[in-house]
Amino acid sequence: MSALPSPCIPEPVEPVAPFGPAPRRATRQVRVGGVAVGGDAPVVVQSMTNTDTADVAGTARQIAALWRAGSELVRITVNNPESAAAVPRIVERLAMQGVEVPIIGDFHYNGHQLLAGEPACAEALAKYRINPGNVGFGKKKDLQFAQLIEFAVRYGKPVRIGANWGSLDQALAATLMDENARRAEPWDAGRVLREALIRSALDSAERAVELGLPRDRVVLSAKVSGVQELIAVYRDLARRSDFALHLGLTEAGIGSKGIVASSAALSVLLQEGIGDTIRISLTPEPGAPRTQEVVVAQELLQTLGLRAFTPMVTACPGCGRTTSEFFQELAKVVQEHVRGKMPEWKITRPGAETMTLAVMGCVVNGPGESRHANIGISLPGTGEAPSAPVFVDGEKTVTLRGERIAQDFVALIDDYVDRRYGRTAGPA
Ligand code: SF4
Repeated sequence: MSALPSPCIPEPVEPVAPFGPAPRRATRQVRVGGVAVGGDAPVVVQSMTNTDTADVAGTARQIAALWRAGSELVRITVNNPESAAAVPRIVERLAMQGVEVPIIGDFHYNGHQLLAGEPACAEALAKYRINPGNVGFGKKKDLQFAQLIEFAVRYGKPVRIGANWGSLDQALAATLMDENARRAEPWDAGRVLREALIRSALDSAERAVELGLPRDRVVLSAKVSGVQELIAVYRDLARRSDFALHLGLTEAGIGSKGIVASSAALSVLLQEGIGDTIRISLTPEPGAPRTQEVVVAQELLQTLGLRAFTPMVTACPGCGRTTSEFFQELAKVVQEHVRGKMPEWKITRPGAETMTLAVMGCVVNGPGESRHANIGISLPGTGEAPSAPVFVDGEKTVTLRGERIAQDFVALIDDYVDRRYGRTAGPA
């Protein structure tokens, strides 16, 4: 006899969507220097300098910092003859320092002239970025676009066709507005402008292919500054082409606004399998390092479960049960320690980037959350005994006390990494 359903316990429901990110959209794979973008390659992190490219030492220094922070591609502005002449010297300087990161040249208006005038620049760059809205105007536009593509074909370079809301092809937008006016049911102006942006990217890419650029040397982007617009545009781009996609919210803004807006837009798209390389276009806070955009991009990919770059620290927000700032300080020390060690661990302790850590403020959720991490510590809250149990792979191993809790906990992390991820290590 089958059991009657309980009137009190709801039946389990099927999840609305499968757990985890959707498989990546099938895109063509593009080689940018030694880095694969698209196809089955992991989503690539890239960044852009804000130095004067003609300043060889300063630009090379910032590229090296971005690379050390984890940027896998770095884009630089090439806007005048001085910067074009600097490019091969920058690339040479980086090679001498052992910095192996492909450099992308960002061209607007005069790229055809700069590449013609500096063949060594054309050769040294790993990819060219062309904005179809800023190639030239009137009759010159098609000619100058063709010249840029011819350089890419001649030097065997991939090209990003990067349309941008802020520099939309006005002639195309006007044509689509006229077409729209003749529709029985006209679209709203926003939809027409989104279509203009998408068509600018797609039509330019097809033109580049007609001019001889192989399809697997084209990357597309169509950036806007609004979250919902970006999601709509990229869903459409992904549906209408199989070119590799560079994903980013343009002019995202400063501080938490820029981080939240970029994360909101990119998370939705990455979760749907859209996007082959990302850039977080943060406006740096005065005095803040340029590398912040790389950290945000990595953390975004890691929190979505798409890639692992550095051990993730779970920390509770703290509340009235935490007695001092020690708990926040320890979370910061641990995060900075593992991030600082990662360049070395990447080589000597492969796999350490997947480790999880927990720093918890009291006994309420502390032991439970710490047990879920590879290593977790539960600090004493208000009224609790002044001791901090440490959990390693779910088991309580030691209790730390006294003035040296932070140093002792960091030492335990290093010891765990050596045992578990050292090249000769067996199971931890
Ligand atoms: S774990 Fe403790 S200190 Fe942290 S938020 Fe929860 S109750 Fe507050």
